[in-house]
Amino acid sequence: MAIEQLLILVKPDGVKKSLTGNILTKLSEARMLIIGSKVVKVSKELAEAHYQQLKDKPFFCGLIDYIQGKIYGAPWDRVIAFVYQGEDAIARMRKIAGATNPEESDPVSIRGAYGRITTKGVYENVLHCSSDLNEAEREIKLWFKPEEIVMPIYPTKEVVVEKEKKVIWA
Ligand code: UDP
Ligand code: MG
Repeated sequence: MAIEQLLILVKPDGVKKSLTGNILTKLSEARMLIIGSKVVKVSKELAEAHYQQLKDKPFFCGLIDYIQGKIYGAPWDRVIAFVYQGEDAIARMRKIAGATNPEESDPVSIRGAYGRITTKGVYENVLHCSSDLNEAEREIKLWFKPEEIVMPIYPTKEVVVEKEKKVIWA
């Protein structure tokens, strides 16, 4: 068994339903390490890049609105992102998360317990969970900068960035 990393997102329905604690408690059964975490207001660009492989699906537009939390509005238009690390992490976390369709998901899984299908047909399944090693690496690099993760997991390089505008505490 190999040590793997994956991206977990508490989706906006999970945030709105105040399920973050419940989800983390369920995930903690796997005894894995959280090596990065943050709250993210999801831009359209990030949403589309995250779900790029689903862009031809009929539910794509609804899915982009969903992951941006547009259907809930402020202050629920955000996700809580985590990078987890552990043995055989992807398969084990997906098992705890449950199947994509909350109605077909094991009722004791997170999605089975808390998910629903909206009248518009979007599967509101309260969390995202990377599904394979390639997807996990792509997603972690999309959502997190190297310095936001407390241990080195992928190769990095140093670059000198000049004249970069950024906001700091005043
Ligand atoms: N989804 C949906 N309808 C579908 C399939 C997927 O609304 O028929 C949504 C659902 O929220 C799912 C997300 O699109 O979590 C990404 O789909 P994927 O097939 O990658 O499922 P996952 O990896 O999240 O289980
Ligand atoms: Mg997926």
